[in-house]
Amino acid sequence: MSTATKSRDEFPVAVKRDLATRAAHFCSNPRCLRLTAGPQTKGKRGLGTGHAAHICAAALGGPRYEPTQTPDQRRSIENGVWLCRECGDMVDKDAESFEPEVLRSWRRNHEAMIAEVRQKGWSSTIELMRAGQAEPGLARRIVSIFEDRRVFWATFDAEFPDRVRASLDQLRSELTKLRSDCIAGNPIDTAIVSLLRTIRSFFDIVEQTDLVTLRCDSHDPNWRSFEGALGALRKSIGFQVATLAESYSIRLQGEFSQHAPHA
Ligand SMILES: [Zn+2]
Repeated sequence: MSTATKSRDEFPVAVKRDLATRAAHFCSNPRCLRLTAGPQTKGKRGLGTGHAAHICAAALGGPRYEPTQTPDQRRSIENGVWLCRECGDMVDKDAESFEPEVLRSWRRNHEAMIAEVRQKGWSSTIELMRAGQAEPGLARRIVSIFEDRRVFWATFDAEFPDRVRASLDQLRSELTKLRSDCIAGNPIDTAIVSLLRTIRSFFDIVEQTDLVTLRCDSHDPNWRSFEGALGALRKSIGFQVATLAESYSIRLQGEFSQHAPHA
């Protein structure tokens, strides 16, 4: 569409300000809840990373455009939801997964929570947010401990089996530590147990082998067994982490993302 004919029904400044205030400057996506205002890290000014997002698009051809809306309805606060930049981007690029009713329910629930905690004071705000955030927060921590861990993709590391063992040992203790923040049997706990089981079966296969002296040699049955076990481990962990990331809308970062299979 040519920009000359495209008219956008933007929110007036007052509507943007009200949306931000009503959301207490937190992103309204229940899985995100990122704070969108604060101080600059080094400078003296305030930093705003929030965004008054249109539920139904401001212009023809935009995401969730609703032809029956009048320009006034399109510009009204009822057609807005406060989001961080990342979530604003996500709901517009994947508009079919985020229908108007989904975004309206985000705003309704988020504003209701803010209203409740505003009356109860700040400490309960943090508690409530933690309760709502625990699972995605944990999912993100699990994913991040796998990202950029060379053992899952670098050929070079596989040539030094003892390094692989050390890295997996460390990973195992980090995962075990994370489990202590989980409620036993909940989805995140189950995911961690499964990751630990996968690492365990790798160690079971290579148990009899001295990994310190083992070197790449296709005629050595111990090497072949190590190589096979590492291949299976990489594939299984890659799939599990990619599935976890997808369930919690976490974008995989770094080298791992190029090696993880897409769930
Ligand atoms: Zn967000």
